[in-house]
Amino acid sequence: MLLNLSTWPEVEDYLNTSQGLIIPIGSTEQHGPTGLIGTDSICAEVIAKGVGEKTQAMVAPTINVGMALHHTAFPGTISLRPTTLIQVIEDYLTCLTRVGFTRFFFINGHGGNIASLKGAFSQAYNYLAHLNFPQADQVRCRVENWFMCSSVYKKAKELYGDQEGSHATPSEVAVTQYIHPESVKNVPLSEKVASGYPIYGAVDFRRHYPDGRIGSNPALATPKHGQQLYNLAVEELCESYLKFLQDN
Ligand SMILES: [Zn+2]
Repeated sequence: MLLNLSTWPEVEDYLNTSQGLIIPIGSTEQHGPTGLIGTDSICAEVIAKGVGEKTQAMVAPTINVGMALHHTAFPGTISLRPTTLIQVIEDYLTCLTRVGFTRFFFINGHGGNIASLKGAFSQAYNYLAHLNFPQADQVRCRVENWFMCSSVYKKAKELYGDQEGSHATPSEVAVTQYIHPESVKNVPLSEKVASGYPIYGAVDFRRHYPDGRIGSNPALATPKHGQQLYNLAVEELCESYLKFLQDN
């Protein structure tokens, strides 16, 4: 069930059977010369919808812009500051807890969001405790990164080895190719790719990673790989979501 395509009475009915909500969160950032700017959001959204369908869970609208300040020297990137992202998450959780949601399962497509999400969860527990919502003490938040699911990680290693890299990876590019075959980009990539530099500011990042990739070879991606990775992620995250609902 998609929250966007439901009515409020339908959401109220849903809350009588479940208090769980899946929230996809991605990023709008450069993904090298061949990766789509929306890669992280596209992947998180489609996987979240897949998990929602299989578990009858409601899926919230995707948070399309995350924390990607280090990518902002490349055109097309849009980022929230960590403090802004934390406030966005807090506002979501406040509105949703008020009406009875208590289990928030974030399916994340971007490593740069993790620290802010965890900070937001700690602040939200504290903040919600001061509001007089009857179920505030039942609130539980979880972030699951689809690309870190053990089955996905294993498959990516098997398909790409060290050429998986850590940004603009063939595995995330493959998932976008599976979902958007009409937007596959065929641009030659340089054989040499930078890796291993620590991440600081945006200009420094672009200087060290001139084409935007970190150690990856997205030319290895295929739509078929994307389908396999999608299936693995959905299967593993269905199990995590159902277990998460039972935490008390
Ligand atoms: Zn990405």
